[in-house]
Amino acid sequence: MLVLSGGTGTPKLLDGLRKVMPEEDITVIVNTAEDLWVSGNLVTPDIDTVLYLFSDMVDLDKWWGVKGDSFRTYELMRSLGHRERMMLGDLDRATHIVRTEYLRQGYALTDAIRKLSVAMGVKARVLPMSDDPVSTTIVTPQGKMHFQDFWIAGRGEPEVLDVFQEGIGQASISPAVAEVLEAEDDVLIGPSNPITSIGPIVGLPGMTDILRKKNVVAVSPIIGNEPVSGPAGKLMRAKGLPVSSLGVAAYYRAFLEVMVIDQRDPVDDTMFADMGCRVVRADTLMKTREISMELSRQLMRLFKS
Ligand code: GDP
Repeated sequence: MLVLSGGTGTPKLLDGLRKVMPEEDITVIVNTAEDLWVSGNLVTPDIDTVLYLFSDMVDLDKWWGVKGDSFRTYELMRSLGHRERMMLGDLDRATHIVRTEYLRQGYALTDAIRKLSVAMGVKARVLPMSDDPVSTTIVTPQGKMHFQDFWIAGRGEPEVLDVFQEGIGQASISPAVAEVLEAEDDVLIGPSNPITSIGPIVGLPGMTDILRKKNVVAVSPIIGNEPVSGPAGKLMRAKGLPVSSLGVAAYYRAFLEVMVIDQRDPVDDTMFADMGCRVVRADTLMKTREISMELSRQLMRLFKS
């Protein structure tokens, strides 16, 4: 199964998927547009959540960082007068240091992540979408800011005038991702933020044309008129999209075949015909691993049918 992922909604689905199919049969193409440099190290938040998930290290309450981690380095740096842009745990920081050490040695990000995956015992293939830097930028009335500064320091509060990915036009699909896409007919877009998590992946030059030839199934991260969590609603509005599963389908309409929406979603199923896709209903609110496993089974059947 080939899955496109951000760092929260889709990892929740992967948590179930890995229990109902062999982990080595899962390949995840992960967003890198939320990556940023912190105190000299490259932090790749979405990739790390996926790596920590597959290595049973992820903090399942927060869906980021390592479970049971401490923040002593972060706190000491703060008391020394340096407040980092992100709260990094002590164990989590080790991953950032090792990854960045590989990059300094000249490895591409894909290779650095492969080496980390092996060291962590991850059997799934975890692939950064690109080896080139891409950065989600939020335009506010106060000026432009990195997505993480909007979401962490700004707590998602600034008014959003626009969202765009800096560097996307110059970035290439990584060779490993291109190879996987060549071999695979089915693509699952997980329930991740369409604008900041999936948008950068499908926005890479040439990706839309590749996806048009695939069986693309997406799970909506929006139920009714609200995202399950996070700023997707505000960002979809800034892009002129309705905040609904229909808005998500509209955003993916160039290549989407099946939209999986929640069984509670009050949207009218017949509206999806205008988006050129079929609609399937499921329990997509993954409050437990069992719900995620059941959704995964349903998605696997969907691809087989
Ligand atoms: P980020 O990289 O941390 O922003 O994470 P993602 O983009 O992968 O995930 C954020 C999105 O996941 C949000 O838009 C949420 O609405 C969605 N999400 C989180 N939990 C669930 C869930 O249980 N079900 C569904 N359908 N969506 C979810």
